[in-house]
Amino acid sequence: MTDEITIILMSTAAATLGVIAGRLWAGASRWSAGAEMLAGVVLIAAALFHFAPEVLHMGGAAPYMALVGASVALIVDAVLARDPHDDHAGLDRGRAGAALGVLAVHSTLDGALYALSFGHDHSSGLFAAAGLLLHELPEGAAAAFLAAQFGWRPARVWSVAILASALTTPAGWYAARAMEPSVASIAEGLFAMTAGILSYIGLRLVVRALWPKRGLAK
Ligand SMILES: [Zn+2]
Repeated sequence: MTDEITIILMSTAAATLGVIAGRLWAGASRWSAGAEMLAGVVLIAAALFHFAPEVLHMGGAAPYMALVGASVALIVDAVLARDPHDDHAGLDRGRAGAALGVLAVHSTLDGALYALSFGHDHSSGLFAAAGLLLHELPEGAAAAFLAAQFGWRPARVWSVAILASALTTPAGWYAARAMEPSVASIAEGLFAMTAGILSYIGLRLVVRALWPKRGLAK
């Protein structure tokens, strides 16, 4: 449990660092793309070498649940049509607000993904964390860009960006942990779904980095 809490704190710190970079450093978007690519590669490696064998080993409905997870992630992505990590420069307020809301929900779910991976076993948690931690940086930078679109005072931009990208993750993690006893009977299925979602996120990040204008959801 201590490792898990350390990682949740690191995740919050990484998103906060991303916000700081996004606010203060003009080169942040180019650097963000590199971090996303790396996060995607790490998540795909984790999927191939850890999650897929794990899910196949579980057998039963688990492989199908992983497919359900990946499909749900794909559908949500397509419905929202806009990736929370996109470059948001020059958005109007309405679209920036919507994208910021999506980012906050996504970041809350990231917290739940940590909880479900660690809930399954320690190494699954560490594999998930390796990829997710890296993608928190560009997520924070995206939140900083979005929050800057409203013409708010700097203090408000900072706090909204940090709230949306950094503080939502421990909140999602805590909520998922608190709900754990009530979902114990479907925990294995949820883990398999998590494995599918993480694989999808990895693939999505790499596809977007290689073909920025032709994301899956566009
Ligand atoms: Zn995320």
